[in-house]
Amino acid sequence: MSYDGEAMAAVVAAWAEIESPTYEAAAVNRMQDAVAAHMASAPVAVERIAGRDGLGDTLVLRAGPQTGAAPTLIMSHVDTVHPLGTSSSNLHVRREGDRLYGPGIYDMKGGAFLALEAFKRVSVAGTANRPLVFLVTPDEEIGSPTTRALIEEEGRRAAFALVTEPARDGGKVVTARKGVGRFDVVIEGRPAHSGTGHAKGRSAIREAALQITAIENLTDYPRGVTTTVGMINGGTAANTIPQFARFCVDLRVATPEDGEAFTKRILGLAAHDPDVSVRVSGGMNRPPYPKTKDGEAFFERVRAIAAELGIDLMDVPMTGGGSDGNFTAAVGTPTIDGLGIDGDGAHTLQEYGLVSSLAPRALLMQRLLERL
Ligand SMILES: [Zn+2]
Repeated sequence: MSYDGEAMAAVVAAWAEIESPTYEAAAVNRMQDAVAAHMASAPVAVERIAGRDGLGDTLVLRAGPQTGAAPTLIMSHVDTVHPLGTSSSNLHVRREGDRLYGPGIYDMKGGAFLALEAFKRVSVAGTANRPLVFLVTPDEEIGSPTTRALIEEEGRRAAFALVTEPARDGGKVVTARKGVGRFDVVIEGRPAHSGTGHAKGRSAIREAALQITAIENLTDYPRGVTTTVGMINGGTAANTIPQFARFCVDLRVATPEDGEAFTKRILGLAAHDPDVSVRVSGGMNRPPYPKTKDGEAFFERVRAIAAELGIDLMDVPMTGGGSDGNFTAAVGTPTIDGLGIDGDGAHTLQEYGLVSSLAPRALLMQRLLERL
């Protein structure tokens, strides 16, 4: 049972044309319509959960033997970071040799489609080894605010989780991810005319500069901790001591313990100047997905199945990017991520997937659903 990479590429291209940025619920739902339609003729139970908080719907697809055994959980997201209009302006869906360019092709419509195709085939053939649950989600790119609870619930029930985020470096998978924290810092000083009232003023930007330096200095590469202040604003005029400044902090940690420790440090930031207030909100968004003993053993099983297909499946060192795999790994479910399409340029206008990776990755996914 082989896969036709060219035929698959045509569907992936069509799915990329259905642009689906996270905050455009109607657009994301058009993608969910396409996924549901793709399953229409298969023995798959399709549950559609209405979107909330302005986001799109979620699909829960169930198939395989209903034996009561712990299921295999597969997860793909259909939202992308690219705004509507990207495919008709600066990232046309197009083929250049083996590369299929388009918004969301690499992250992750290619991965979603190849896994859905394998899931469908296994369902039709009745060859799944255990019950299968496929979550097709609308909000991964913004941290999965409306699907996290469902992912954790299905994750707890599942024997394993397979995630179709993009493959790395020539088909490598992901077996560990850092945890991600997000914080907002609002600083309020005292405004004054910079010429006539300088001594009376308390600059919020001056305080922000001190705080930002302290936060950036928390970065500790050997420990796997990074802090980034990636957005900042403040002040109203060049000749006014600024009353307000705000900035955002991105925190990445390798362990749950560091997640707690660094969250505490960032939330505990105090003003240097008693006349200035510093308010910090936020916390960990995705828990770390460390490579545990169980995770390692699961990867070895997956590697052995890949080897039967002639694939020498490798993993990459812990990556800094979070995904929904963080949620399943954090509830203790062995998780393999990066099972999606090979390619490059996620989240950029150079995003492409490699057509030649579609068929082999689909076959690998099929075998995993049949053997695990
Ligand atoms: Zn993704």
